[in-house]
Amino acid sequence: MDNVIDNIDPTCGVVPGGGAKPAAFGPNENDFPILSCAECDTTFSGVWATGNLRRHVKLKHVETPLLSCDVCGRQLQRKDAMLKHRRDRHPELNIPAPVPRKRPGELDRGD
Ligand SMILES: [Zn+2]
Ligand SMILES: [Zn+2]
Repeated sequence: MDNVIDNIDPTCGVVPGGGAKPAAFGPNENDFPILSCAECDTTFSGVWATGNLRRHVKLKHVETPLLSCDVCGRQLQRKDAMLKHRRDRHPELNIPAPVPRKRPGELDRGD
């Protein structure tokens, strides 16, 4: 039988006495620089600061991709604005006008 293992201190990694502050998991949060958003005042710190900042920018400040009119190249951000633009500026496209909503019973009575 080999008893060498029994002679090795089994408390390896355990803080003896229990009075000392146990080592934290991972580095201290204060060791990380505080990242601040370039677009607004939001700041991020801690282990995930980089990822959080990146996600924040993506959610809050990412540029909406522009739609560009394939007739004149005009760039608009909204689909409905594009539709209106094409209807107004390019009547040759024959884009049907939106059907006005009329509630039943509100037909012209010819007063
Ligand atoms: Zn921001
Ligand atoms: Zn256009």
